Amino acid sequence: MSTMMQPQIILLKEGTDTSQGKAQLVSNINAVMAVADVVRTTLGPRGMDKLIHDDKGNTTISNDGATIMKLLDIVHPAAKILVDIAKSQDSEVGDGTTTVVLLAGEFLKEAKPFIEDGVHPQNLIRSYRTASYLAIEKIKELAVSIEGKSLDEKRSLLAKCAATTLSSKLIGGEKEFFASMVVDSVLAIGNDDRLNMIGIKKVPGGTMRDSFLVNGVAFKKTFSYAGFEQQPKKFENPKILLLNIELELKSEKENAEIRLSDPLQYQSIVDAEWNIIYDKLDKCVKSGAKIVLSRLAIGDLGTQYFADRDIFCAGRVAEEDLQRVAAATGGTVQTSVNNVIDEVLGSCEIFEEKQVGNERFNIFSGCPSGQTATIVLRGGADQFIEEAERSLHDAIMIVRRAMKNSTVVAGGGAIDMEISRYLRQHARTIAGKSQLFINSYAKALEVIPRQLCDNAGFDATDVLNKLRQKHALASGEGALYGVDINTGGIADSYANFVWEPAVVKINAINAATEAACLILSVDETVKNPKSESAQGEAAAGAMGRGRGGGALRGRGRGMRRR
Ligand code: ADP
Ligand code: MG
Repeated sequence: MSTMMQPQIILLKEGTDTSQGKAQLVSNINAVMAVADVVRTTLGPRGMDKLIHDDKGNTTISNDGATIMKLLDIVHPAAKILVDIAKSQDSEVGDGTTTVVLLAGEFLKEAKPFIEDGVHPQNLIRSYRTASYLAIEKIKELAVSIEGKSLDEKRSLLAKCAATTLSSKLIGGEKEFFASMVVDSVLAIGNDDRLNMIGIKKVPGGTMRDSFLVNGVAFKKTFSYAGFEQQPKKFENPKILLLNIELELKSEKENAEIRLSDPLQYQSIVDAEWNIIYDKLDKCVKSGAKIVLSRLAIGDLGTQYFADRDIFCAGRVAEEDLQRVAAATGGTVQTSVNNVIDEVLGSCEIFEEKQVGNERFNIFSGCPSGQTATIVLRGGADQFIEEAERSLHDAIMIVRRAMKNSTVVAGGGAIDMEISRYLRQHARTIAGKSQLFINSYAKALEVIPRQLCDNAGFDATDVLNKLRQKHALASGEGALYGVDINTGGIADSYANFVWEPAVVKINAINAATEAACLILSVDETVKNPKSESAQGEAAAGAMGRGRGGGALRGRGRGMRRR
């Protein structure tokens, strides 16, 4: 009776779906774990690749966490956070994208039984934040600096970092070859912050060993008109004119109206058009440049005109390439040919047009201000070259990071095991529930070495036990031991040059902890009936339900380990 008297409160629009509380949290955690499971097998040098094809029929083969996450097109609102952290890891440091996703998944997996047991998420969050703070402090303490070494020494150290990054990729077989190429290109651009100063050009065909580095700029020959064949294709110490104007005969009939009273005047108008273009061409020639590049078209008239005067020209050069030529040769892009002074002309030691595979390339080498490098990638399939490019991007980022921050830590799970041990040790000094949470956090960190083993087909339990024992040695001599990917045992990662820049690990732990805390702090999801597509709804629902049931069955109360 009394219920009938109470007014019903309608807060949200009809059809709005809300779910809240523990069940919602657990379902979010399950979704995140499902995403982590997708990228799990790609970790490490023995990791597998994913082939993803979309509705347009494009196929991508990749080992890169960020690329995979991006292409997966995840719709679950909580799981999307993982896509974001993978992306941010990619743009911040460039590597460690799989690591960050795995860690976030594992942190939440460890948190799940606590949530199910009724622990308030805020308690977990607080402990996780403390743990991540301690972990990062520890990484900073353990990091080894490569500052103050000679250039040669530095070069070989950086190459080691690059090789570690590349070892998990498709081109891992040639990691030394590419690592030195990457280091050379990064050293070439010096302190320039613009990453696009390193160009990567892809030319299908040949083998990956045919890839080469140009100390300067290279780009594919642009579209050319008749007369181009007569232009010289090689210069020594040429001056280079860079333009952003069209050198084409413009017939004005489309965008102008001219009224003539005397038919004879028509000729003068045609003449004027010719005069304008000839004047421009003449000024280019007078500037003393032997090479004329323009972002816009250089028509047949211009091409022939330049050919007659032994000048090389290329029109419709891509913006990016033109910028690189400008930076490398010291020239400035002009928007007018009036008053071209010597200072705005660029120069280089050698320019030549060369055949690379089926393509012709314009190559500027020996550029005075350096600051640019171009890697020309060769290889069989398109997908292969694409993945090679992504891998090189990772390696380039890592070398740049290592150069800037110049501290490295031991990879292969060594650093993860060491922080894990340290946190466990620290947890013992804490009274109260927090001890359990920090222990769980420490356990979650072991996912990296465990996964490296799993992916290589080793007995993960066995290797991890060995690692734990080694890291627990009171003398601290085992601190650098990680998974030995070649033998299935353990080895000193540092001595084996499996190195990672400290910043990769720091960023990964930071981002993964933040993501885990964010997801733990959400206890209600409200879905507006119109705002999301039906497809997204279905997929999200299936994800939460499917995983939730199994996981609840698998782990009951009191089954928490350690
Ligand atoms: P991410 O996207 O996170 O960079 P990767 O697939 O590149 O993932 O794998 C990186 C992990 O592989 C790091 O933990 C790194 O220490 C480890 N690793 C790389 N090379 C080796 C190696 N030669 N031996 C053992 N571990 C390695
Ligand atoms: Mg990597």
